[in-house]
Amino acid sequence: MNFKNTSFIFLFAIIGTGLWHYFYGISLWWALIPVLLYKSTVIYGSANIRSNFYTKAICKGNTTEKIIAITFDDGPNAQFTPQILKVLDEHNVTATFFVIGKNIEGNEELLKQIDSKGHILGNHTFSHSFFIDFKNRKGFIEELTKTMAAVYRITGRQMRLFRPPYGVTTPHLANAVKDLQYCIIGWDVRSMDTTKDSEQLILERVKKQVKPGSIILFHDTSAKTVSILKQTLNFASENGFKVVSTERLLNLKAYEL
Ligand SMILES: [Zn+2]
Repeated sequence: MNFKNTSFIFLFAIIGTGLWHYFYGISLWWALIPVLLYKSTVIYGSANIRSNFYTKAICKGNTTEKIIAITFDDGPNAQFTPQILKVLDEHNVTATFFVIGKNIEGNEELLKQIDSKGHILGNHTFSHSFFIDFKNRKGFIEELTKTMAAVYRITGRQMRLFRPPYGVTTPHLANAVKDLQYCIIGWDVRSMDTTKDSEQLILERVKKQVKPGSIILFHDTSAKTVSILKQTLNFASENGFKVVSTERLLNLKAYEL
């Protein structure tokens, strides 16, 4: 079941519903069934960023050295990003922040601070809409460009790293990324810090999965993550893991020169 087949069946079902509506008067609400099925199939088929289903994503460093990188999605967040920055400072490590464009307004100083402290900024689209995977190539280009422009205006940085919202990729997204020459960064350790309640469970998950070259996914959007970050950094140093930037871990450039 690839994206093309799924789309074809979806289209067929929608046209079918339209015809039944026209000839037999059935409610157009029936169209919700193919819509929901399509949505769930697309999510299922493309949700695993590590599958490289549509496009190539870098999900870990190719190394046996005990180095790892930490990444935060969905900021900047006026309440929690400063707390995260403080913890990173205390441990003298840098991280990568995949920011949402619409969260930048009002947080310009915070964005500047992330950059000036030596952390890397990456693109996480402008809207981070739940329905973003319905966008076409132009829609994705707009999403990426708007965030890129906001970050450039404030920091002078032209980002090259991109992380798709929800880790979901589509062919249109893949094309937009190619057009704009972004490099997709995934993860191999998903902390589940936004979906699981138990701090202990999240931490155990991280500890169990982390290995040389790992990229850990967190979100700078909750007090829970601030606490888990502290414990993760303690765990890393106690177990000989060095936290490095994604640039160093993956041996790439995060910005255009
Ligand atoms: Zn996100």
